[in-house]
Parts: sequence; structure tokens; C-alpha cells
Amino acid sequence: MQIKQLVAEYQEIADFLNTRWPLKDENQRVFARTMKVVEELGELADEILTSMNLQRNSKIAAFSRENLEDEFADVFASLILLSTELHIDVEAVIKKKIEFTRERFEMQARAENHSDKN
Ligand SMILES: [Mg+2]
Repeated sequence: MQIKQLVAEYQEIADFLNTRWPLKDENQRVFARTMKVVEELGELADEILTSMNLQRNSKIAAFSRENLEDEFADVFASLILLSTELHIDVEAVIKKKIEFTRERFEMQARAENHSDKN
């Protein structure tokens, strides 16, 4: 799945959420989506701590790699949902950030002949 498809999927989900649970205005939606990022990041942190045996035994006993991956996906999804409320072009800003990072560390530009068809 490409970034454009992923964002389109989450735009539909955002439209559904905003219809089902309407908030007062854009500021409230941005606030709510930002808090969801924080909430989901906390859940991912919990899973990572558990994976390192740094939580209570009952959590460690219930740990699964699937839960960790699920929480990772929640963080990513919540960020994409936030991007829709902030009208951020995810693909453009990520491309810009990759270029910035490569230049910062004096890395060569990646060859453009790789396939994006996965
Ligand atoms: Mg979660």
C-alpha cells in the first residue's frame, strides 16, 4: 500500500468518525486527534515495557508480539488521522524530511529505480 492510498483510507475513516461523533469545530478535532496520538503512544510504550519484562508479572504473562504490533499500528493510524485534521500532505512532508535527514548525515540520495509497487 502506498502512502496516498493509506491516507485516502484514513480520510474515509476520519469522515466517518467526524459524522458519528461530531465535535464543535476544527480546533476540537485537532485536540482530540492529538490526545489520541498521546494515548496510543502510551499503549505502545506499555507493550514495549512489557516485552522487556519491565511491567508487572500479569502483564508479562499476557504479552504477545501481535499486541505490540497492533499498538504500533494504532500510533501510526492516529498520526495519519491527525494529519487529515491538520491538512498535512503526509507524503510531501515525509519526503522532505527524508531528504533533510540524508543531507544532514551526508548520505547519498537513494537510487530512484526501486519499486514502490508493494
Ligand atoms: Mg491502542
